[in-house]
Amino acid sequence: MADKDQAGHGSAAGNQASRLAVIAIGSNIGDTLSYVRGAVAAIAALPGISVQKVSSLYQTEPAHVKDQDVFTNAVMTVLVDDSVSALELLHRLQAIETDFHRVRHEHWGPRTLDLDIIDIAGEISDTEELRIPHPYALLRDFVVSPLLEIEPDYVLADGKPVSHEAVEYGFVISVNDFGSNG
Ligand code: AMP
Repeated sequence: MADKDQAGHGSAAGNQASRLAVIAIGSNIGDTLSYVRGAVAAIAALPGISVQKVSSLYQTEPAHVKDQDVFTNAVMTVLVDDSVSALELLHRLQAIETDFHRVRHEHWGPRTLDLDIIDIAGEISDTEELRIPHPYALLRDFVVSPLLEIEPDYVLADGKPVSHEAVEYGFVISVNDFGSNG
């Protein structure tokens, strides 16, 4: 049975049923604020997707590889029409990454734009192509802090509540309004 959070949201477009998804955005090359804002606009323009909430912009410590620029991160929630599968959503996000001329030379290294699906309500996937809930979500302050800002009681599809308890890296340095230039 769909719970209250999943039902009754109405529809992302038209009268179809939809479910809530959480998307994390990150950038640490060039005009990172513009990349993150541009990504939100590009996601908002996707068919079958309706933006619910967008976090502030977070400057965060680079994880794993320290000698790179700080990241700008944000998290957004969207309603995804049931006609759009989780893999279709992933592929659309990957097309947006490509549009932003994603540059990446090393694993965990700098990138113009990185989009991750953190969670889709009621869905679990454990393939190499798509793991949701995102396996590292609760380790990353750059995911946990913005997600708790917009959804303070969020529970992942595997039943784990989002909290700072397990956070290990990617810590927040500063927070700016979505529209401000810091
Ligand atoms: P990265 O370069 O770190 O962004 O990783 C991209 C790869 O992770 C792609 O091959 C995706 O298919 C895969 N992937 C697995 N789970 C997810 C997820 N929840 N969100 C985004 N990409 C994912």
